[in-house]
Amino acid sequence: MSLSRFSLTDKVALITGGNGGIGRGIALGLQAAGAAVAVTGRNAEKNAAVAVALGENALVLPLDVGDEAAVQTAIGAVVARFGRLDILVNNAGIARGGRAAETARADWDAVVDANLTGSYLCAKHAAAAMIAQGTGGKIITIGSMYSYIGAATGVAYCATKAGVLGLTRALAVELAAHNIQVNAILPGWYKTEMTERTDTERIRRLTPANRWGEMDDLVGVSIFLASAASDFVTGADIPVDGGYLISKGFFTE
Ligand code: NDP
Repeated sequence: MSLSRFSLTDKVALITGGNGGIGRGIALGLQAAGAAVAVTGRNAEKNAAVAVALGENALVLPLDVGDEAAVQTAIGAVVARFGRLDILVNNAGIARGGRAAETARADWDAVVDANLTGSYLCAKHAAAAMIAQGTGGKIITIGSMYSYIGAATGVAYCATKAGVLGLTRALAVELAAHNIQVNAILPGWYKTEMTERTDTERIRRLTPANRWGEMDDLVGVSIFLASAASDFVTGADIPVDGGYLISKGFFTE
């Protein structure tokens, strides 16, 4: 096999929630592998900052992924700018609410909208663009360790991240005939806005690798799942977590 199968030259990637944290790291990684990248986010300041980091060949779009008309417009804008769309990374997400009894309906809805409905809407319209091109494509969803683990402190987050796996598998089967592969990355613990209040030392102790993830830890698997190297991989989910998921319950505090 030629290593050129990992190249993203001439590919166009859209990363939702790419203006910070994990999405920004993946966007920079896919760009380094040769892709033209478009990222979306809601916060204007963060959008402006990532536009500088990605340079003038990138596209940065404001987008709330729960708004279907806006999703359709954003994907149209990517195709208009770059002529095609090959790779979608469904990264946008939030964690809100807590235990079931304490989670307000508005928080539940916001988490479902961003993490699950948003992933579905972006995949729906990205797949339509990919099918129209007729050259296949890649959809990468971002799950979590909480796609598998139940947590007493995040009912909406756990429900949506488990849902992301169902979405990934259903789309993988549905889109296989179009040569579109759909796979999930399950990040472990990464320092971002989402985890800024999480106890750093506690997570280090609970992670067999004895450290938090760095954004570069996610780049290799992202390039693999975005490239021709993974053309026979679909419906899979890959933890990138320093062993957290398979050790939970054995590593104790
Ligand atoms: P951040 O809070 O740093 O980033 C979240 C991103 O999603 C931001 O770019 C944010 O943009 C965007 N976003 C949130 N809601 C919406 C929305 N409704 N529409 C459009 N964009 C939205 O968090 P992370 O980087 O940590 O999270 C990225 C993904 O990784 C999430 O899906 C998260 O669940 C997942 N994850 C994170 C882990 C971690 O340890 N950090 C572990 C496992 C999974 P803006 O701020 O402009 O709204």
